[in-house]
Amino acid sequence: MPYTAPVSEMRFLMDHVLDAGRLAGTERFAEATPETIDAILSEAARLSEDVLEPLRRAGDLDPARIENGVVRTTAGFAEAYGRIAEGGWLGIAADPEYGGMGLPQTLSSCVDEAMAAANLALSLCPLLTRGAIEALRHHGSDSIRAAYLPRLISGEWTGTMNLTEPQAGSDVGAIRTRAEPKADGTWAVTGQKIYISWGDHDVAENVCHLVLARLPDAAEGTRGISLFLVPKFIPDGDGRPGVANGVRAISLEHKTGLHGSPTCVMDYAAATGWLVGGEHKGMAAMFTMMNNARLGVGVQGVSQADAALQAAIRFATDRRQGRTARADEPAIIGHADVRRMLGRMTALTATARAICLDCALSIDMSEATGDAAWRARAGFLTPIAKSFGTDVGCEVAELAVQVHGGMGYVEETGVAQYYRDVRVTAIYEGTNGIQAMDMVGRKLMDGGVVARALLAEVADIARAGGDLGADLERAVSRVGEVTEWMVGADMEDRFAGATSYLRAFALVLGGHYLLKGALADATRMPLAAFHIRRILPETIGLCDAAREGAEPLQALDFGS
Ligand SMILES: Cc1cc2nc3c(=O)[nH]c(=O)nc-3n(C[C@H](O)[C@H](O)[C@H](O)COP(=O)(O)OP(=O)(O)OC[C@H]3O[C@@H](n4cnc5c(N)ncnc54)[C@H](O)[C@@H]3O)c2cc1C
Repeated sequence: MPYTAPVSEMRFLMDHVLDAGRLAGTERFAEATPETIDAILSEAARLSEDVLEPLRRAGDLDPARIENGVVRTTAGFAEAYGRIAEGGWLGIAADPEYGGMGLPQTLSSCVDEAMAAANLALSLCPLLTRGAIEALRHHGSDSIRAAYLPRLISGEWTGTMNLTEPQAGSDVGAIRTRAEPKADGTWAVTGQKIYISWGDHDVAENVCHLVLARLPDAAEGTRGISLFLVPKFIPDGDGRPGVANGVRAISLEHKTGLHGSPTCVMDYAAATGWLVGGEHKGMAAMFTMMNNARLGVGVQGVSQADAALQAAIRFATDRRQGRTARADEPAIIGHADVRRMLGRMTALTATARAICLDCALSIDMSEATGDAAWRARAGFLTPIAKSFGTDVGCEVAELAVQVHGGMGYVEETGVAQYYRDVRVTAIYEGTNGIQAMDMVGRKLMDGGVVARALLAEVADIARAGGDLGADLERAVSRVGEVTEWMVGADMEDRFAGATSYLRAFALVLGGHYLLKGALADATRMPLAAFHIRRILPETIGLCDAAREGAEPLQALDFGS
């Protein structure tokens, strides 16, 4: 099934909505010129469309398997991964000191979207490696950075993230994996981790696990967690993979989707580990990795939404059923209800992409300027990007199945794969419920300063937008009122409304981005009108629900 990377859409968003040109005006990202951006995007599109997409179906039908303790990935995956590594794609946003290109995340997020849309399962491997690169760059010792970063950035070695254990999912503080000090300064790591993506594979020569574990004297909960680097093969004196370490994959999970990605149960048997980020400082180091991955997972949601939307438009343009009201559109794309679905899919996908890129831009500007306001803006947008991006991925993929009718539910068209693959994105990297709680908890700790500033940005555009802008302004006021309520409310009451509040906030941001785009290019006005008139009214119900408080939920009786 053909997929076309939405390069011109990404360019439009960067240039006319997010004003991403300001990045090139900073010393840090001076190399992110329009020419460089064009060259990177068109190369990424070619790799995604020609190399990664043709393997998407193979990953689904011929999943990774484990044979005599060795994980074998889908035929063709190792070669395709090799193309990603050789092209330098792992390092486009990485530190030039270790071989990276140092380009902005705004650009690398576009590249991520294209690669994930083409092959979500395979692209998860570089995504996790990039998280490991960030964690080691910020928290690794000089010797660890020197030994590992060049290999990870070149893609010769890959990285994983090992948090989850059977009794410790969302509650990371419940982990039991232990780390005992050894005489030579390294640590012996023992325990079992579950659901570890790309925990073992045959696409690269070494796997570098970042593992959360507890020291013998550790306090209870998250305060007592430390982070360790545990390589599959311990580097020898020349920095090459040497002796095998005491870590192995003992089985692979059978999943709803994302079959091409090996999801491993990992056994650590006194495996040699190196401490990263200090004793009991594991959560801080892990957060570096997780924040990076949260935005990356939001982008995964956008990627599946866009690929499913493209498939739905192709199908609807071809399939004929009944007489449509439009002489120029005899296929089902002429039917009002099909247009409703495609309009919703388009508006939600565009909104989610803009939120993710705005989040990436805020991270970049914070890095380039050191300005705390940009950092806080990025922090506020991160749970929205993860949660809304992946909710949209699920909703749009589901609608794509609906547009296909029975052809969507049977597997031949491949659209059901998007629906199955994307589902996990709302679960991993912190479930979407946990993201919403982060937004109304930690991210409103500032008393609502960032939230108000973002709503003020939307209101500015709304005032320039005529009647549509007036509708958007009303939605801004609604969300603004809930923000004030949240800031003053008890935490349990906030949590009870968190998911509704996050979605209402995201929809209002969507009104902003789409209207701003339409003011720059009038051909985009019908989509902005669709969003503001047909989707934004949902904020009325969402805002009412967000303020209901916890008590009505506690009063529910489930007969349990
Ligand atoms: C395919 C796949 C790949 C994965 N890859 C990795 C990986 O590479 N590395 C890794 O470490 N992990 C990985 N995971 C694990 C993933 O991050 C966890 O599944 C996720 O964090 C949720 O944990 P859980 O499954 O134990 O669910 P639980 O934590 O048991 O959650 C169940 C439900 O309860 C809700 N809930 C839990 N706690 C709270 C709370 N305090 N307040 C409100 N609601 C709550 C959740 O939102 C959810 O709806 C992967 C999982 C899958 C399925």
